[in-house]
Amino acid sequence: MTNFLNEELKGIDIRVDEPLKKYTYTKVGGPVDYLAFPRNRYELSRIVKFANAHSLPWMVLGNASNIIVRDGGIRGFVIMFDKLNGVTVDGYVIEAEAGANLIETTRVAKFHSLTGFEFACGIPGSIGGAVFMNAGAYGGEIAHILISAQVLTKEGNVKTIEGRDMKFGYRHSVVQDTGDVVISAKFALKAGDYVKISQEMARLTHLRELKQPLEYPSCGSVFKRPLGHFAGQLISEANLKGYRIGGVEVSKKHAGFMVNVADGCAKDYEDLITYVIETVEAHSGIRLEPEVRIIGEKLSDKSNE
Ligand code: FAD
Repeated sequence: MTNFLNEELKGIDIRVDEPLKKYTYTKVGGPVDYLAFPRNRYELSRIVKFANAHSLPWMVLGNASNIIVRDGGIRGFVIMFDKLNGVTVDGYVIEAEAGANLIETTRVAKFHSLTGFEFACGIPGSIGGAVFMNAGAYGGEIAHILISAQVLTKEGNVKTIEGRDMKFGYRHSVVQDTGDVVISAKFALKAGDYVKISQEMARLTHLRELKQPLEYPSCGSVFKRPLGHFAGQLISEANLKGYRIGGVEVSKKHAGFMVNVADGCAKDYEDLITYVIETVEAHSGIRLEPEVRIIGEKLSDKSNE
């Protein structure tokens, strides 16, 4: 397959049998058969067409900050958008490619004295992942500022989805249902004051540093916020702060986070998530639902092949 791949996808940056733990924020994850970094839309469409023609599964990842890749890894292609990362500003509108770093994009907005993106200044995702997840913090979310997103459909067509058709909800957007790939997004911001924007971003960054265990690998908040409650508080009340399985523990600083403190693996994460869900339910009657997305094969699945 590798020779075959070399011929048909010549010139594209494709890494074979690449360990995904090198890329994930949790620092866990087995190898993917082919990890591709397209430099432009043409390369992206060549990869997708190749995979479809050879019946190979494919999926996309952004910054891998909201993902747990299982230890057996992923078959087929993972496409990452690191090289499709342009950001342009036109008046009050910012257009960013899927691989643009969300935090960097909020800095571009600040540089141009545009307000509305401050809420995202500490969310370590990509633009594509942020649209997919409707990422949000401190009262703001992508849904509030998105004008439209360009997507690549599963059939390989490019189309534009207007913000009002994105079916945004709490950590949800329509592309989670359709399987479309976000290629770029346009955001409507407003004229602001550079100093005030800088102060607000500094305030939010300070809040994050105070409350979140940013010194350890993690995937941010593991669970969605249950209606009328905070996941971290429920976990804390169930006396789970600091509870550890393998190398992964419930953060002592913020119980909504699970941190990889000692070379943990995806199985540690999954076992801890299950344990926390069951313990919190027994304690409070509330069943937590993961926000983090868990993908790939368990190690046993792979060794059974
Ligand atoms: P990934 O983790 O790479 O992928 C997540 C999902 O999006 C996957 O299913 C993937 O297939 C899909 N996806 C990625 N790119 C695309 C694309 N181009 N087209 C279609 N689908 C795509 N989140 C918040 O909302 N608020 C927070 O305050 C917040 N704080 C965090 C703090 C820390 C320390 C960490 C580690 C994470 C935090 N997160 C937060 C979670 C995470 O950063 C966001 O969910 C982010 O939007 C995920 O983007 P990503 O590019 O990393 O997506």
